[in-house]
Amino acid sequence: MNHADPAAARLADRRDRAVRAAVEHGLVDEEHHPVAALLDVTAVREAAASLHAAFAEVTAPGQEVLHAFAVKAGSLVPVLRLLDDCGVGAEVASPGELALARAAGVPAERTVLDSPAKTTAELREALGLGIALNVDNPQELERLDALVHAAGGTSSAPVGLRVNPQIGGGDIDAMSTATATSKFGVALRDEGARRWVVEAYRARPWLTRLHCHVGSQGMALSVMAEGVRATWELAEEINTAVGCRQVTVLDIGGGLPVNFDSDETAPAFADYARLLASRVPGLFDGRYGLVTEFGRSLLAKAGTIVARVEYAKSSGGRPIAVTHAGAQVAVRTVFAPDAWPLRVAAYDAKGLPKDGPAVAQDVAGPCCFAGDLVARERAVPLMAAGDHAALLDTGAYYFSTPFGYNSLPRPGVHGYDASAGDAPVRFMTVRAPQTQADLVAESGGPHRDALTQ
Ligand SMILES: *Cc1c(COP(=O)(O)O)cnc(C)c1O
Repeated sequence: MNHADPAAARLADRRDRAVRAAVEHGLVDEEHHPVAALLDVTAVREAAASLHAAFAEVTAPGQEVLHAFAVKAGSLVPVLRLLDDCGVGAEVASPGELALARAAGVPAERTVLDSPAKTTAELREALGLGIALNVDNPQELERLDALVHAAGGTSSAPVGLRVNPQIGGGDIDAMSTATATSKFGVALRDEGARRWVVEAYRARPWLTRLHCHVGSQGMALSVMAEGVRATWELAEEINTAVGCRQVTVLDIGGGLPVNFDSDETAPAFADYARLLASRVPGLFDGRYGLVTEFGRSLLAKAGTIVARVEYAKSSGGRPIAVTHAGAQVAVRTVFAPDAWPLRVAAYDAKGLPKDGPAVAQDVAGPCCFAGDLVARERAVPLMAAGDHAALLDTGAYYFSTPFGYNSLPRPGVHGYDASAGDAPVRFMTVRAPQTQADLVAESGGPHRDALTQ
């Protein structure tokens, strides 16, 4: 591939070498591992460094910023450990995600709990651990009131309220959380809501944070900035109304979109940080601590799914590569192909980039339903049985979030270091391939006779 951007060229070069090495090492093979996922450790470290640098450029000296990775974008313990090593904590949204973050060693002070459906047990656990949490709605706040009351009227963890500035959606409805009727947060423009929020803070000196996350992939940066601005304005209004600086931390969520059409990282974290600095200068004057919760933008470019082409057939004149990567690893792309197109790269049987004229072909997965295609009429070199199809930019929300269809096993995830151009690629196991014994066990194997006894 031709690249004007040197970072993009290095990313593509590391990926090509990793695919080749993965085939050589048998991480993807004919017998047992027809599909595997690869994660470029260098790319993850670079993304985390660019996030830190972007905010360092716009924040005031001494202003505290916690970058928390949205765990749902890459729910793998070694990945959370790597990000923590890069100074990026964890944003969790379920007891399972919290357990993963804790297993990775992410400390409580770098963990944030957001979820629209926290149980009382989860709230109690977060308070007990001292994990920051963002309350979603008035009923949740009442539950918390009872827990705080029982603890003598103070909260042992920082608590914020999630608001929905209702500034509208982006290109993908399912990813837009700031629509008029979104299920998330307190809808600020609803009748009486603003007054209710101010009174809620006045009555609770322990409510010291304010949170928004206006959407993910498909949101325009200017709309994201508008949501952050509305949140900052509300914090100012609350602090003025209560007569002190009660709101001390603003959690501005994540949502930086990822470019799925090339190896270039665009927009960059720095583009967004600069836009925020121009649209919401008060965010960076040092009076507020900040929390961010990026997910996709930290990992997407680092991931590649490599699948063997089992058969190459033709149907109605259309060439079809039947591969082992379908809905089980690319659920959004298969079910919402227009919203989630992925690049597909063709490699040969040895894992070398395939040449040849581009031919429009469908790239199908192994699942038994007709829509299991990861690309339709895609112009890439014609793939043959034994070749490999690679799904690019799949580091976030793809292999880490498998779909258990057709009892297909979760593929192995292998980290790689291909940073030294002349040294062999080094692999590390992030998640072992799921075995058939695991599959049987999680599918009720141990309860075989439960329904016939
Ligand atoms: C999903 C989510 C994020 C991360 O979104 P990305 O688009 O992956 O950056 C951050 N905060 C909250 C509350 C979320 O639900």
